[in-house]
Amino acid sequence: MRNKKVLIALLSIGMLIAVIRIAMIFVNYEKEQNQKKEDYFKQNFFAMDTYMSVQVYGKNAQKNVEKAIAEIERLDALLSTGKEDSEVSQINQNGGGKLSIDTGNLMDRAKYLYSESDGAFDISIYPVMKAWGFADKDYHVPEERVLREALSKVSMDRIRVSVDKEVTLPAGTEIDFGGIAKGYTADRVAGILKANGVESAMLDLGGNVQLIGKKPDGSDWKIAIQNPDGSDHYLGVVKTADKAIVTSGGYERNFTQDGVTYHHIIDPKTGYPVQNGLVSVTIVSADGTMADGLSTTLFVMGQERATEYWRQHSSEFDFVMYREDGTLWITSGLKDCFSSEFEINEIE
Ligand code: ADP
Ligand code: MG
Repeated sequence: MRNKKVLIALLSIGMLIAVIRIAMIFVNYEKEQNQKKEDYFKQNFFAMDTYMSVQVYGKNAQKNVEKAIAEIERLDALLSTGKEDSEVSQINQNGGGKLSIDTGNLMDRAKYLYSESDGAFDISIYPVMKAWGFADKDYHVPEERVLREALSKVSMDRIRVSVDKEVTLPAGTEIDFGGIAKGYTADRVAGILKANGVESAMLDLGGNVQLIGKKPDGSDWKIAIQNPDGSDHYLGVVKTADKAIVTSGGYERNFTQDGVTYHHIIDPKTGYPVQNGLVSVTIVSADGTMADGLSTTLFVMGQERATEYWRQHSSEFDFVMYREDGTLWITSGLKDCFSSEFEINEIE
């Protein structure tokens, strides 16, 4: 009788242990699955007037994507000319004001590009953007008189920035960081992700691609450069890591009036959309702000001046240039990492 009780007790304990073991296997399995889910996260969203996506690999992927998006939204609220209470809008409305750290950084980078490009890049182009209706999307060819008036307000030379970052704009002058804002944002986000331990990520901020490290398997990323005709015959593929790849082209934002197409990259010398035989310029650089700024700048400069500029700064970036005559040009730093079904002309 007593032995039987002992036996039942032992059996019960044995079964209990078995049940606990099975339960633990399930718990571990769940944990592993959650861990895997945490290893990669991607989110698409709309910000800065364009479609964006952020994908992050590694631990806490979802949390890191959320941090990235929060930073993009913070900078959007600060820099947008479309939002009346943004810092940039306030400066434009008040003819000046105190620059925060981010707008101060952007102003420094914009001034550098302005002087290096002999005025091809000029953030005071905003009155002209407005005259063409690019600001409020009421696109139209401006009257000659209106355009001349707007153009007379354009000149970074006359923007004063004091040592304590107080900016003063001449009457009627307004600024727009649209040509570098996404690149700067990508740089900032990359910095935040790296500080949070992220070793592998890709940001696509409306065609501004920023790579963090290599792919999780240790290989280079392959970034296709869109064909402006919208077909899937890419201009080519860049194989690289830890770089920004940014394209500017007249095909991105434009309108047609009386059979003529007008786009959103303006020559500050004329006030008209740039027309110099280029379809698109792609910059590859470790510096995201520079990549964005230079894609706009070199597009304005045209092939000859752009080539000259690259020869003076070839350690800082490379470019891919696609012309209306169908020819494709790359600078020599890309020759081992760029492939294309087009014939490639190399610039040295
Ligand atoms: P996107 O923003 O469409 O990717 P870009 O980086 O080339 O393209 O930037 C174009 C924007 O830059 C315009 O929408 C305008 O805000 C601004 N911009 C246009 N022309 C110039 C210029 N010559 N210098 C500086 N900024 C410019
Ligand atoms: Mg740009």
